[in-house]
Amino acid sequence: MRMKNRQMILRILVVGGILLGLLSQVFYPVIETVSAQDGIKIPILMYHHVSDRSIYWGKDAISTEEFANDLQTLHRLGFHTVTPSQVIAYVEGKDILPPKPIMLTFDDGFLSFKTKVVPLLEQYNYCAAVAIVGAYAQKASETGSRNDNFDYLTWEDLAGFDPRTVEVIYHSYDMHNVGGSNRTGIKNRRSENEESYLALIQEDMTRMAELLGAVGGNCRTVVYPYGAYSDLSEQALKAAGAKMTLTCAAKINTVRQGEMDSLFLLGRINRPHGVNSEYFIRTKIEDKLI
Ligand SMILES: [Zn+2]
Repeated sequence: MRMKNRQMILRILVVGGILLGLLSQVFYPVIETVSAQDGIKIPILMYHHVSDRSIYWGKDAISTEEFANDLQTLHRLGFHTVTPSQVIAYVEGKDILPPKPIMLTFDDGFLSFKTKVVPLLEQYNYCAAVAIVGAYAQKASETGSRNDNFDYLTWEDLAGFDPRTVEVIYHSYDMHNVGGSNRTGIKNRRSENEESYLALIQEDMTRMAELLGAVGGNCRTVVYPYGAYSDLSEQALKAAGAKMTLTCAAKINTVRQGEMDSLFLLGRINRPHGVNSEYFIRTKIEDKLI
């Protein structure tokens, strides 16, 4: 009897061991998948203009000192800046991201990006994306007007940026308008013919792909003018080759390797004038990462 009990216990142990082994085989990949699904949090900051003249400061324009303090704070808190292309490559499984990644974006292509922003980025080995309106760059290139309080970057300026510091991305050729044409940015009009809208976006992206491509930029990443988008605009941009779209929704994003859809409709946190850098970055970014 005692012998039988021992044999029984032994059998239970052996069978149990095999079962545990099998279970770990079954569950290990599941656990891995769950952690991959958690993804990586990517905060994106939205800037427009940097100026030393207080009359320009406001929701879309900050002082050079404020921007310098932002970079110093991000650096002190251990953030690493990444370009849109790096994030796309991560999701495609072609690259890894540094710890605490953050993306800095500058809309509209102000000349101040070259004169005020880039020198500070270089001090920290940081990078940023600048979203270009083709018509603004064209006009600036033709007029030669170079006042960094309100003028825009030329094609020559854009071609001169170090790609390790600046990625040049799409903000439409000439669709940075509200109301005039009854269209907000690149979003389709209500009851607009779907086919002609898809063709319009394709045409605009193709035009800009050539212009931006000539200066080392690309249309893979789209910054929606005024953050205005729709299901149809997403469909149109994807069909035209966009891999990432950025809105003005104030949220922190999570991107996931292998999930290309996690790169669309990413939110951005606007950086207004008049807020202390430490307070701004701690409350809007750092605290939201936990
Ligand atoms: Zn804009």
